[in-house]
Amino acid sequence: MGTGRQVAWSIRWIERHLLVEMCVLAFALALASGEIGTWRWPAIASLLVMSVLLIHRLNLVAGRLAGRRVEAPDPDREYRQLELLLVCTLYCLFQLSGGIASPLYPLLYALLAAIGGLDASARNAFVLTVTAICFEILAITSARNGLSWDAAAHILAICFFPYMSSVLMRALAAVLRKDAQARLARDREQSEKEAQEYRLSGGVLQSVATAIPEHQRIEHRQRSSLHQIELGIGNLLDILYEALRPHTIAVFMLSTDERSVRLKDARSESDRLCREQMPAGEGVIGAILKRQQTVSFDRIRAGYEGFTYYQGHEPLRTFMGVPILEESAAGSRHLRGILLTDRRVDLPFGEDDERLLQVAAREIVRLSRTEKLIADMDEVKTRTKLFYDAAKRLSRTVNLQEVIAEVLDSVMGIYERTDFAAIALVEDERLILEAAAGSERYTAWCEQHVQKVVPADSLAWLTVKRAEVLPAKPFFEMGRDQRHVFGRSMKLEGLESLKCFPLKKAGPEGHKSQPGERVIGALVVGGCDRTLFPEEPGKLQDRVDLLYTVAMMAATSIQNAQRYLLMARMATTDGLTGLHNHRRFQEMLEEQVAASKRYDRHLSLILTDIDHFKRVNDTWGHPVGDQVLKRVARVLAELARASDRVCRYGGEEFAIILPETDRTGAMNLAERFRESIKQQRFNADGQDFEVTLSLGICTLPESARHKQELIDRADQALYFAKEHGRDRAIHYGDCVQRAATGA
Ligand code: GH3
Ligand code: MG
Ligand code: MG
Repeated sequence: MGTGRQVAWSIRWIERHLLVEMCVLAFALALASGEIGTWRWPAIASLLVMSVLLIHRLNLVAGRLAGRRVEAPDPDREYRQLELLLVCTLYCLFQLSGGIASPLYPLLYALLAAIGGLDASARNAFVLTVTAICFEILAITSARNGLSWDAAAHILAICFFPYMSSVLMRALAAVLRKDAQARLARDREQSEKEAQEYRLSGGVLQSVATAIPEHQRIEHRQRSSLHQIELGIGNLLDILYEALRPHTIAVFMLSTDERSVRLKDARSESDRLCREQMPAGEGVIGAILKRQQTVSFDRIRAGYEGFTYYQGHEPLRTFMGVPILEESAAGSRHLRGILLTDRRVDLPFGEDDERLLQVAAREIVRLSRTEKLIADMDEVKTRTKLFYDAAKRLSRTVNLQEVIAEVLDSVMGIYERTDFAAIALVEDERLILEAAAGSERYTAWCEQHVQKVVPADSLAWLTVKRAEVLPAKPFFEMGRDQRHVFGRSMKLEGLESLKCFPLKKAGPEGHKSQPGERVIGALVVGGCDRTLFPEEPGKLQDRVDLLYTVAMMAATSIQNAQRYLLMARMATTDGLTGLHNHRRFQEMLEEQVAASKRYDRHLSLILTDIDHFKRVNDTWGHPVGDQVLKRVARVLAELARASDRVCRYGGEEFAIILPETDRTGAMNLAERFRESIKQQRFNADGQDFEVTLSLGICTLPESARHKQELIDRADQALYFAKEHGRDRAIHYGDCVQRAATGA
C-alpha cells in the first residue's frame, strides 16, 4: 500500500470511527465549561460543526435506507453517530434558549422515544440515554445552581422515554406476531381439513369438488395424497423404531430420474441426518440401489466414510438397508427408494429384522399405490357427476336446438382435452351437420360448415350406416388422407384423437348394432392431442363407454325434441293444404294487430271464398274438390309475399294477413289472387273447368279499430262481393261508400 493510500485510509478510518465521538467529547467539555450558554464563538462553532456532520451522516443513513449503498460496514454505528449528533445539537439549542428551563426539552424526549422504539439496537438506546444524562448533569453543574426539581424531572424523563417506547413497540410486535401465527395455523388446519375431507368424502363435498377448476382439484388431491402417504410412512417408522431400537431409521426416496435421493422421513437420535438432495450413487445408498438387495454391515471400523446420509462423521457400528421396489402387473420391478437403519452399539441386525424391514418397504409401496387408486376413483366420480348433470339438463329440454347445444356443451366439458364436438342428423336420407363446437381454431370451420350435407364418403356417414363407434383403432394411426370425418369437402385439420358415436336409442346389447334399429345421426368427439382417447385399454374403454352413453342419451332427447316439433307443427297446420290452420290464424292476427297498433302501421286482411264450390263437389266429387282446394292454397301461398300469412280459414275459405299493407296494396294483391285463380285450369273426367274467387278486404286502422272488427268487416266485404256478382275483390271502405250512394 502506498503512503498516499495509507494516509487516505487512515483519514477514512478516523472519519468513520472517531470523528463524531471526538466532536461529542469536545462538545461535552464546552458544555461543562459553560461556554455554550451565549451566542459566542464556542456555541456558534459547535452548531456549525454539528450541522455539517449531521448533514453528512443523514446523507449516509438516507442512502442506506433507500438501498443506494450496498457496502455496509456497521449500520448500527452509523445510526448511533447520527443520534449522538442530534442529541448534541439539541443540547446546544437548550443552552441557547434558557438552559435547563428551556421550552425545547420535549424535542429531546421525542427523539429518545423514537430511538427507543425504532432503533433495533439496545446498545444504541443505552449509549444515547447515558450521553443525555451526562449532558444534563454537565449543564446543571455549569449553571452552578444545584440539583433542581426541573433537572431531576429531566433525568427521569430521559430514562423513561426510550424504555417506554421500546417496551410498547415490543408488545405491539408480539401481538402482531401472535396474530399472524394464529392466522397461519388456522389456514393450515383449514386446508388440511379440506384436503382430508375431499379425499375421504363420499358425497357431501362432491358438489364442491366439481365446482372448483380441474387443475385446482388435482392439486388439492395431490396434496391430500401426499399427506396420507406421509402419515402412513410416519406410523411405519414409529413401529420400526420401537421394534428395532436403532440409532436411526429412515426412508429415502429416489428422484424420478433416479439420480438423487432425498430424505422422506426418519426417527433418529442424531440431528445430523442429511435433509438435502444427495447423489444416488454414493456410499451405502449407492450400493443398495445398485444391487437392489439388502445390504448389512456389522462391527464397522471407526472412520468408515460410506454413510453419506449424515453430515459429517457418525460413529456407527451396525447398519442394514433394504430397497423399496415396486412390482408392476407385468412383473417388472422399479426402484422407488431405500429404507435403512443403523446403531451405534455392537448389536447386529438379524434375519428377522431384515424381514421386518422388507415388509415395511412393501407397505410403503402399497401406501402410494392405494393413493393412486383413490385418485383414479376420484376421477371417475367427477366424470360421473358431470355426466349426471348433463343428463339432468337434457331431460329438462324439449327444444331441438337447445338439446343439441346442450349435448355439445356437455361433451366439451366432460374430458378436458376435448377440442371439437359435432352432431350430424339424418334428414330425408341425407346426413346434415346440425351443430358443431370447439376451441378457437375450429370456430371458422363450424361457421362455414354447419347445416351442410355431409358426403357419403365420410366417417360420420359410416358410423350411421354401421351403427357402431368408429374408428375402432386410434385416430392418429389412420393415414392423414383417411381421416375424412365429414368427407373430403369438409376437411378438419389438427385432430389427433377422435371417435364417432352413433346416435341411437339405448339397447341391451352394448356397442353393437341391432337389426332394424334406427340410427338418427352421429356424435363426433375429438381432441388435438392423443390423450383424449388414451392408449391404455382400461382408460380408453371407460371413456368410450361414457361418451357412448352420452350419445344414447342425446339420441333419445333429440328424438323427443323432434317429436315435439312435429306435434307443434301439426297443432298449427292444416292437414289438407299445409297452410296455417284457423287457430294459428287467430293467434297470428292477434299478434299483428297488436304490432300494427304499437308501431302505428297499416294492417290488411283478405278473406276469400271459392264461388259455387258446392257445385264442384257435386259435379266432380269430393276428392276433386279437395284437389281444387289444394291448388288454390298453393297459388295463394306462391303469390303472397314472405311477410304475408296465408291461412285456411275453414272449408273453402282462406284468409291472408298482410302486415304493413295499406288499402291500395291489399287491393292490388287481392286482384292478383283473383286473376291467377281464374286462370287456373282444372281437369276432371277429361273435362276442363275453372273456379273463381270472391274476396273481401279490410284495413287497419282506417276501416276497423280492432281485430274482431277487422274480421267482421272483411267478411262483410266478402258478402258484398258475393252479393254483387262474385269473382271480384271488394274493400270494406268501398262497400260502405257504395251503400251510402245506393250503388
Ligand atoms: P258461394 O259462392 O255462395 O260460396 O257458394 P258455395 O257453393 O261455395 O257455398 P258454401 O260456401 O256455403 O259451400 C261450401 C262448400 O264447400 C260446402 C262443403 O261441401 C264444401 N267444402 C267445405 N270443406 C270442404 C273440403 O274440405 N273438401 C271439399 N271437397 N269440400 C269442402
Ligand atoms: Mg263458403
Ligand atoms: Mg263458397
